[in-house]
Parts: sequence; C-alpha cells; structure tokens
Amino acid sequence: MEEKKSEDFSKFTIGLTKLRRRRCFFWSMILIYIPTIWLSLRITHSDRQTGKVFAVWFLLIIIASLLAAAGKCPRCGNYFHVNGFIPIYLRKCLHCGLHITADKKQRKKQRKEKHLNLE
Ligand SMILES: [Zn+2]
Repeated sequence: MEEKKSEDFSKFTIGLTKLRRRRCFFWSMILIYIPTIWLSLRITHSDRQTGKVFAVWFLLIIIASLLAAAGKCPRCGNYFHVNGFIPIYLRKCLHCGLHITADKKQRKKQRKEKHLNLE
C-alpha cells in the first residue's frame, strides 16, 4: 500500500479529476438533504409535497452513489471505492492506495521545490 516516491502521478490527473467530480456530486447530495427538506417544508407546508422532494433526492443520491462507486482507479484499474460488495467512500483507492489528490499534491510539491531552487 506504500506509494513510491518517484512515481509520476500527473498521468492519473484525468482519471482522478473524474473521480473527484463524482465524489463531489455524491457528498453534495448528502449535504443538501437537510436544507432541502427544511426548505420544502417551509415553502409547501405539506408532508405530501415534501415526500415528492424526498423521492427526487433519494433517486439522485442513488445515482450519485452508483456513479461514485463505479469510478475506476486510474492506476490499478479496479473500482476505487469498492472492494468486495460494499462501497466505502474513502480518499484512497481500496486496492492500490492511490490518494484521490495524489496528482495535486505532487504538483504542489514540485512547484515548491522549483521555487526553492530558483531562490
Ligand atoms: Zn488503485
């Protein structure tokens, strides 16, 4: 699971960006749940109407979780969030340990090193 220091992560940028977008959609859907239900109750004053809002949210969260779970790791090609049957939305690949922001971190580090060399 230990990441090699010399490995170039920039080649995974496209794959990791796609994964990050899917994860962002998934976590956003979770975060908007309470505000959405609260707002719906405030506006409609109806449990029935809010039930419809809940149904739409529920459909979206299922889509979001499936999209995030179906995301493949750009390094090992396995499902990034699934090992076995249950998806676990961690920030590292469950198979090879690639971090979700490995490319960003490396770029930042390289920029810092470049900056230090120029001084
Ligand atoms: Zn992997």
